[in-house]
Amino acid sequence: MIIVMSPQASNDDLQRVVDRIRAAGLNEHISRGTERTVVGAIGDERSLSEQTFEQLPGVERALHIVKPYKLVAREGHPAGTVVDIRGIKLGGKQIQVIAGPCSVETQPQMDASAAAVAAAGCRLMRGGAFKPRTSPYSFQGLGVQGLEMFQQAAREYKLPIVTELMDVRMLDTFLEHDVDVIQIGARNMQNFDLLKEVGRVNKPVILKRGLSATISELLMAAEYIAAGGNHNIILCERGIRTFETAYRNVLDVTAIPVLQRETHLPVVVDPSHAGGKAWMVPALARAAIAAGADGLLIEAHPNPCEAWCDADQALTPAELTELMASLRLIAQAVGREL
Ligand code: PEP
Ligand code: MN
Repeated sequence: MIIVMSPQASNDDLQRVVDRIRAAGLNEHISRGTERTVVGAIGDERSLSEQTFEQLPGVERALHIVKPYKLVAREGHPAGTVVDIRGIKLGGKQIQVIAGPCSVETQPQMDASAAAVAAAGCRLMRGGAFKPRTSPYSFQGLGVQGLEMFQQAAREYKLPIVTELMDVRMLDTFLEHDVDVIQIGARNMQNFDLLKEVGRVNKPVILKRGLSATISELLMAAEYIAAGGNHNIILCERGIRTFETAYRNVLDVTAIPVLQRETHLPVVVDPSHAGGKAWMVPALARAAIAAGADGLLIEAHPNPCEAWCDADQALTPAELTELMASLRLIAQAVGREL
């Protein structure tokens, strides 16, 4: 850690900083410049917090030089993690497209969705039985009954299922229903108790980036899951909130190479919740694969006009099939396969 003293700092102020560094079991390195003095804390600085120093008199700023996340950092784990989902590898050469409706509605809707997802060549299926809705009066999902419908439809096509867990009290139910991938939604990215609990189970987790979360906050959220012992984590960029109001969210394509540099975890992109309109999805999906994403999470519905949730952004089965064909070419161009 680097501690920058203010120009007015006294020798006593400097000594207090040095004492605190030594108390934490580290050594100090003092550089006296003409303007100000800078102190380096040498050793394992992870136990030090910036605030501890910034509240001392005479300290202008304290900065970590070692990243606060360690288990998820590429630094200590150069090879990329490949998450195995019932034999399907996410994070390797093969790109995985997880498609399906925003929410589970009826058995016929799920049967038709599963048929369309499999026919398009996708190997995993999404669908929400517990929905985080902005309004308490909107459809909240079918709950456990939805999980049952989802499994029944997906089993027919041997598609592993991805579904959102909102409440820690439902974790056992998810395990009993053999959910293959637990999705932690954007609104729960910093629900630390939920993260700790999914960290204790041996199930792959898709962790979606919070609406206004920084890369570092996303990685720290993943660190919570990893710290519990579950290292089967997939990060998901799903658009962030900016000043722009012309679309639902801004897909942060920049996050893809940045995350891949910072972490060994696979990165998938959800173009549906980013754009919010079906017509934007193909362009955003293609951009994501071109930028190096390991997979996509796409909303598709047998009849989007009648979808109970996120109707505007759902692809039809034909649009999903067409998109898969164009993604295959891009995957090839960037040395991947679909
Ligand atoms: C979803 O994928 O169903 C969802 C609600 O997305 P997000 O958490 O990214 O808003
Ligand atoms: Mn949705």
